[in-house]
Amino acid sequence: MVHNGVDDPRIATSDGHRPIKSHTVEDYVSTQEKIESIFAEVVRRNPGEKEFHQAVREVLESVVPVLDKHPEYAEAKIIERICEPERQIIFRVPWEDDRGEVHINRGFRVEFNSALGPYKGGLRFHPSVYLGIVKFLGFEQLFKNALTGMPIGGGKGGSDFDPKGRSDREVMRFCQSFMTELYRHIGEYTDVPAGDIGVGSREIGYLFGQYKRITNRYESGVLTGKGLSYGGAQVRREATGYGTVFFAEEMLKVTGDSLEGKRVVVSGSGNVAIYAIEKVHQLGGTVIACSDSSGYVHDEQGIDLELLKEIKEVRRGRIEEYAQTRQHATFVPHRSVWEVPCQVALPCATQNEIDASDAATMVANGCTLVVEGANMPTTPKAIRIFSEAGVRFAPGKAANAGGVAASALEMQQNATRDSWSFAYSEQKLREIMQNIHTRCYATAEEYGMPGNYVAGANIDGFRAVADAMLAQGLI
Ligand code: GLU
Repeated sequence: MVHNGVDDPRIATSDGHRPIKSHTVEDYVSTQEKIESIFAEVVRRNPGEKEFHQAVREVLESVVPVLDKHPEYAEAKIIERICEPERQIIFRVPWEDDRGEVHINRGFRVEFNSALGPYKGGLRFHPSVYLGIVKFLGFEQLFKNALTGMPIGGGKGGSDFDPKGRSDREVMRFCQSFMTELYRHIGEYTDVPAGDIGVGSREIGYLFGQYKRITNRYESGVLTGKGLSYGGAQVRREATGYGTVFFAEEMLKVTGDSLEGKRVVVSGSGNVAIYAIEKVHQLGGTVIACSDSSGYVHDEQGIDLELLKEIKEVRRGRIEEYAQTRQHATFVPHRSVWEVPCQVALPCATQNEIDASDAATMVANGCTLVVEGANMPTTPKAIRIFSEAGVRFAPGKAANAGGVAASALEMQQNATRDSWSFAYSEQKLREIMQNIHTRCYATAEEYGMPGNYVAGANIDGFRAVADAMLAQGLI
């Protein structure tokens, strides 16, 4: 194999051959060098934003062979343009708690790329949120949205506000203050936010109410993830989790396998995790463990979903409460859920939750399939360990695209003042996930890296955005 200077398994083929057809070593090295220098510039211009660097690096490494095939992308500086968000908004969010104390949080909306449609992506409310997190999420989002094949660009936002332990009224006051600035930047044809970690239907409801109040417009399509009583769409709530499992099902089909009888571990216990568990159980697998930031629960009989929903969706409680009710289940505090042996792993919690040592444990325990429900939950080292061990792996930007795809379906229903049934919406979601799988799989083959879903997703998403940017001129 020609050494290309990249220390990453994702650009190597499984059979050790060069991934691209005909170019000289010199061409290859020079594209590689170009990419390295673009990456160095991204790091220099965005200091300290390590999650953003990580997300950019992964995509840039994948697109080396694409640039070799398409010198027009390099000439138009498509990569440099893609790495620079079109607009970044940072604002103060003052609010008052129930005791009358004033708090100041920081709000963000990064409008990354509108080549394919209005900016689209969620809002995350979590104390870890800073510009680097929002940018990594926005960057991932634009390729993810491209993979859905729907007319949506990429954006992301959020705040370092922590909704945990806050009353409904405090959350409402925060959301109203957040929207009092955000409203001037969003709109059905401009930028359409939705939920992410810490932002569910409660928060979307408060945000929508304030948008309507300030603008005096009942503009349903300005936010997605709305409640069913005021313009929300069936299956949006379930879509990220269901979609991840549909994607896993497609991967298993390739090898003549299915979820039937599989032991599955799902990390997290929020919206994505809950509906991933539901779909795994519907398709005949058993989820034996899930987690939150305090630890994990292990239930060999299979996670009792009604109980989990009651604890997490109704009580907004901790996972520990699960083992208090289900006596045979165990709660293991402050440990990684990835120590529980499984065949299929669905990381549905947060970024970088599977590190190299988790990956090594999972491989040793016989895990053969990892499908990301969260955004970038697997570190680059862990991905390498999976790749070397022959564990099949799907990145979030392909596997968790069901959430944003269902948001695009919600926009479609809002635009036509229509509402579709659950069964019809779920069928649409399934077809979209099958289509994304096919695109990733076929692109990986086309570039000589069969089975490499990271390369397939990055290359296919990149090409869609790059072609639209080229067509629209220098903007
Ligand atoms: N936050 C979700 C994601 O990471 C959904 C975004 C949306 O529905 O706009 O894709």
